[in-house]
Amino acid sequence: MCGIVGIANHPEASNLAYLCLYAQQHRGQESGGIVSSDGTTLYQHRAMGHISDIFTRDVIAKLPGHNAIGHVRYSTSGASTLKNAYPFVVNYSGGWLAVSHNGNLTNYRKLRKELEKEGSIFNASVDSEVVMHLVAKSREGTLEDKLIGALKKIKGSYCFVFISEDKMIAARDPKGIRPLALGELQVNGGGMAHVVVSETCALDLLGAKFIREVEPGEILIFDSCGMRSIKPFEKETKRAQCIFEYIYFARPDSNIFGRDVYTIRTGFGRQLAREHPVEADMVVPVPDSGVPAAIGYSEESGIPFQMALIRNHYVGRTFIEPKKEIRHFGVKVKLNPIRELLKGKRVVCIDDSIVRGTTSLKIVKMLKDAGAKEVHMRISSPPTSWPCFYGIDTPTREELIASSHTIEEIRKYIGADSLGYLSKEALYWFEKVNGNEWFCDACFTGDYPVDVDDAPEIMKLTKK
Ligand code: 5GP
Ligand code: SF4
Ligand code: MG
Repeated sequence: MCGIVGIANHPEASNLAYLCLYAQQHRGQESGGIVSSDGTTLYQHRAMGHISDIFTRDVIAKLPGHNAIGHVRYSTSGASTLKNAYPFVVNYSGGWLAVSHNGNLTNYRKLRKELEKEGSIFNASVDSEVVMHLVAKSREGTLEDKLIGALKKIKGSYCFVFISEDKMIAARDPKGIRPLALGELQVNGGGMAHVVVSETCALDLLGAKFIREVEPGEILIFDSCGMRSIKPFEKETKRAQCIFEYIYFARPDSNIFGRDVYTIRTGFGRQLAREHPVEADMVVPVPDSGVPAAIGYSEESGIPFQMALIRNHYVGRTFIEPKKEIRHFGVKVKLNPIRELLKGKRVVCIDDSIVRGTTSLKIVKMLKDAGAKEVHMRISSPPTSWPCFYGIDTPTREELIASSHTIEEIRKYIGADSLGYLSKEALYWFEKVNGNEWFCDACFTGDYPVDVDDAPEIMKLTKK
């Protein structure tokens, strides 16, 4: 999971890129960067940490030009170091080129081995580096031609924004696994700028108009003549949009894959109340990710909604902490129960997902220690039993509690009085016509829509 932005033809390009990264900070908190272009030179700044710490006024002033791209990173491929921070910049025979990538290539290792055999030297360990090598190797044609050649060799999920001295280019993979939105913004003094972002909440911050999604398999080229669209891939009939964007990743105020995330999330909660009703005194979300589903559960069941768990907003998401001891400690740092509310009460507690089970275990204990009489855990997605290879840093199959435990065993482990997950069918309540046809739900089903060449052992276990 990462957040990306591309700005074309605006005199304040790097400033706008900064704002878009700020709005998309939830998609990655490890590192951030911006590369801008004034038509002849690229300027770059990348660092570890949060956007507000990385970009000061002085830093942004050193990123001039009318085009810019940016990135917030959450590592999926490659270690968390500055060398692996994006945008990734190279100098090749055609000039300078930088890229931001959201997604994960599933034949990266294979391609890298082939390229190394032919003499390519790799600097970092991020998967987009192979794309840059493929572009650099192809001698023929324009930058667009070289890019098309490179994109035809890679597999997996990608939303890219590239920047060269005189162009900004956006591309989305043929199955549209990750989201990418296109917007436009009136420039003071005349002209129209274009904005490409992972999530529309970033367009809202700029006051830019959301035009449409970048289509799966579409490449958009922005230069001094404006915007052009090309679709060089054979037409894919089936999309594989990531259903987890709706469950957890995207901000609820974004429009993703053509729908409002908040509406879908509250709908998951309503479905959950129908599938797993229970007598209780209050519905309590695990903030923030469980809030919209808890509102839906409360509306449908008529059980009052209470914010009986309060989140400290100055703590990063605990999921990415590397050591088990820290993760256990992390839940307490992040959440605190309101004892007066909970004492002697029957609680329905709503979270969006159980990954390892550590969070739910701590939360049930926290609610009970605070005096709750019963805790009924309800999860607004199906059991997560398969790892993601398309840009989400899920643990290995062994670490996913649902891959080796029944629901009753998970209930016992987390110490809840009852446990209910949303069914796979109810997940698609919003899509009456196509059902799951247009979505990837491999982390629940093991039906991987794009082959994972780099993990043959997993592909053997799946239904493909
Ligand atoms: P667990 O403790 O079961 O491993 O984690 C479950 C919690 O992690 C849930 O509250 C859910 O909101 C959150 N979560 C699910 N997927 C992700 C993810 O990809 N990244 C982060 N940071 N948190 C996640
Ligand atoms: Fe999204 Fe899950 Fe598919 Fe990964 S496996 S792309 S998280 S739906
Ligand atoms: Mg959560």
